[in-house]
Amino acid sequence: MGIIDERLAVIQPLNKFWHGNKVAALDMLRLDLLHPVVSGNKWFKLRLNMQHAVDKGYKAIVTPGGGWSNHLAATAFAAKAFGIRAIGVVRGKYNVLTPTLEACKANGMELVFVSQEDYNNKHEPGWARSLVAHFDEVFMIPEGGANEWGRKGAGLISRFINDTYTHIAVAVGTGTTMIGLRDKLNTHQQMLGFVPMKQGAYLEGYIRNHVQSERDRNWQLTDEWHFGGFGKWDKELLDFMNDFYVANQIPLDIVYTSKMMYGIREMLHRNSFSSHERILCIHSGGLQGNASVRELLCY
Ligand SMILES: *Cc1c(COP(=O)(O)O)cnc(C)c1O
Repeated sequence: MGIIDERLAVIQPLNKFWHGNKVAALDMLRLDLLHPVVSGNKWFKLRLNMQHAVDKGYKAIVTPGGGWSNHLAATAFAAKAFGIRAIGVVRGKYNVLTPTLEACKANGMELVFVSQEDYNNKHEPGWARSLVAHFDEVFMIPEGGANEWGRKGAGLISRFINDTYTHIAVAVGTGTTMIGLRDKLNTHQQMLGFVPMKQGAYLEGYIRNHVQSERDRNWQLTDEWHFGGFGKWDKELLDFMNDFYVANQIPLDIVYTSKMMYGIREMLHRNSFSSHERILCIHSGGLQGNASVRELLCY
């Protein structure tokens, strides 16, 4: 697929002074380097969805998301690249569009706005379809790309990950990336999922129900480092992001990867890992969402 050059993703060891040399390796898989907008896991969750929509001759894809949604931004770009019409169903009303929504529009996505109340019905069959009834032959991609093509696509990230890593850390939103990777990685590799919201328990059941039963091993979720909930942050998290950048020259996003790396550092402080263990943290992108805190970051 010529749209994104997947060879741009590299594995970067983190600064030993930053992590205190307590483990044999602490590396980051830089999926954020793939593209400024369709970065990280979003590209992998979308590529098989887009291919499916194109192959089956759908006229448009429809997908929901919030005003700062990495998924919407990535979908708008990917749809343009695949030459298929995209309609974004946006939660809430905006007098002024967020930078994310502006970028969606600039990439040709049509935006349909619905109230939060309406949006809460999004899991009901036919909900999104009813909103876009005037468009024919649309392919629906659920929020966050959480369908079988999304999971399969996320599983492709396993190509970058060799068997020498004992632990794979991933930020969890819908759980799609975690499921796709659990299905593909060696089951001996322990997966650590960091949930940036107060919803760990709900996601556990979802992941268990979707991961292949014989691979339902060696994964765990924590929501200990949610910082007040999804999209919430405080000065401590910002300071952490700035320090992390100075030490590693890696920009983290404010919603997902910053909370994951904060958690990893806490686990290192608590001696949660043995000295022979090798940890790979997946940088799942999302940097476009930092526009809301740009002036507070040193990058
Ligand atoms: C969407 C997103 C996630 C969550 O991925 P899921 O597959 O929904 O669990 C993690 N990190 C970043 C940066 C994201 O944008």
